[in-house]
Amino acid sequence: MSTATRGRAKGQGQWALGHREPLNPNEQSKKDDNPLNVRSRIENVYARGGFDSIDPADLRGRFRWWGLYTQRRPGIDGGKTAVLEPHELDDEYFMLRIRIDGGQLSIPQLRAVAEVSTRFGRDSADVTDRQNVQLHWVRVEDVPTIWRILEDVGLSTQEACGDCPRVILGSPVAGVSEQELVDARPLIDAITSRYIGDRSLSNLPRKFKSAISWLPDIPYECNDISFLGAVHPEHGPGYDLWVGGGLSTNPMLAVRMGTWIAPERVPDVWAAVVSVFRDYGYRRLRNRARLKFLIKDWGIERFRQVVETEYLGYSLPDLAPPPVPERLEDHIGVHRQRNGKFYIGVAPTVGRVSGTLLARLADIAERHGADRVSATPMQKLLLLDVPEANVAAAVADLAELGLVADPSPWRRATMACTGIEFCKLAIVDTKDRATALVGELERRVPELDTPISIHVNGCPNACARTQTADIGLKGQLMTVDGRQVPGFQVHLGGGAGVHAGFGRKLRGLKVTSAELDDYVERLTRRYLAGRKATEPFAE
Ligand code: SF4
Repeated sequence: MSTATRGRAKGQGQWALGHREPLNPNEQSKKDDNPLNVRSRIENVYARGGFDSIDPADLRGRFRWWGLYTQRRPGIDGGKTAVLEPHELDDEYFMLRIRIDGGQLSIPQLRAVAEVSTRFGRDSADVTDRQNVQLHWVRVEDVPTIWRILEDVGLSTQEACGDCPRVILGSPVAGVSEQELVDARPLIDAITSRYIGDRSLSNLPRKFKSAISWLPDIPYECNDISFLGAVHPEHGPGYDLWVGGGLSTNPMLAVRMGTWIAPERVPDVWAAVVSVFRDYGYRRLRNRARLKFLIKDWGIERFRQVVETEYLGYSLPDLAPPPVPERLEDHIGVHRQRNGKFYIGVAPTVGRVSGTLLARLADIAERHGADRVSATPMQKLLLLDVPEANVAAAVADLAELGLVADPSPWRRATMACTGIEFCKLAIVDTKDRATALVGELERRVPELDTPISIHVNGCPNACARTQTADIGLKGQLMTVDGRQVPGFQVHLGGGAGVHAGFGRKLRGLKVTSAELDDYVERLTRRYLAGRKATEPFAE
């Protein structure tokens, strides 16, 4: 019996354990109908009847399990986000999230994404910090055709959003890196083919974020589960298991379970951890439902014991803490692969691209004999498998597209979430504001010689990892001269790897959006004037 199936007897998680009625509306909706069932209604009813034919419980709930969120209606300012009813914020267009498990796209897949964007998404496309691509302006009438185009090349929007296992992060250079000892791609494939769309794991208390990578080039401390490459002194190469990370409100970094996972056991261990979350995770309050709260209450020893005894049926070997990585590798620039070819990492500003640009990227890839493109968790793109003789020409062609392989530190290390342009939870603009900030800082402080990470978020949900940036910005409204204006709470000195920790949120450390350029410039000049040798910003 598979791990996933064994847990099914426990039914709807905590509700089956008794005394938790009445359900909250989200739990009621999931209980009324498995959200994956909404696909047939989209294909057979809503795509024909249009936006007005959609049942509100599907529109604002179950659609997410197929990667669809309603967009924010244009022109609604951030002050109205918390006061309007959901239907007043809804536009009749959708954001569509395409999951790219592991981050790598073949050229036909890249062309399919570009086609969907240009035909059905007004040429919109954003590379997200979870290696998805998000399109906007999608109409429900077009969704079945979009699915056909994507699924013909092996892409999917299934469980891209919702209370279910979302996209699995993976090293964007898995299979080609000279440093890698285990290629995680077959493990990611095994999990997605076995468990994505498995109804026994499609009703979780809340979203579930995963990552599997040999290299420390994914934000492993921010996921519900991460497998990070580690060598056991007796058993050899495998994975160190981290669980219970999550940012948003009540941010927590993942903790090590203290176990070594053999590569062939990764899918079973992944399913066991998801199943514990399904069966024991908290479902009463949405903002207390992520796995991190259960682990905080239980402690890691009890959590490990439940995983091993109730779900796996065997004990996992202990693993002493491996060396902590210095920093998250972003792969920007030109790098040799282990097969003698090269990959080229480029920096679209804050992940914003377009369908047209992606189609031209596919042209460049084919012209120079490259087989694949990767999306990174830093909102960047890599061209993989470029023969050495073509590297210089490929770099030049990419630069003509605005995709430079030697970006300024500002362009390299700035990320932004979706923000008020499309997100119904947003309070402030992010993408355009961050793009303007990058341009201004490149002009004002061109001498910066090391990346300072700036993560711009439109609200406290921290989709662009507010707390782990050198300068984390959390959108909020500020009152200036009696008027409400967009601004940011500032978190300073967050980091990953050996610098792991949350930025300090200092009381009163806020900046208006209008003053942001001046503020970051001042901060940087102080750092450059006062740093010792190679002291990073986070110190
Ligand atoms: Fe939307 Fe807030 Fe997430 Fe930004 S951080 S994408 S504004 S929910």
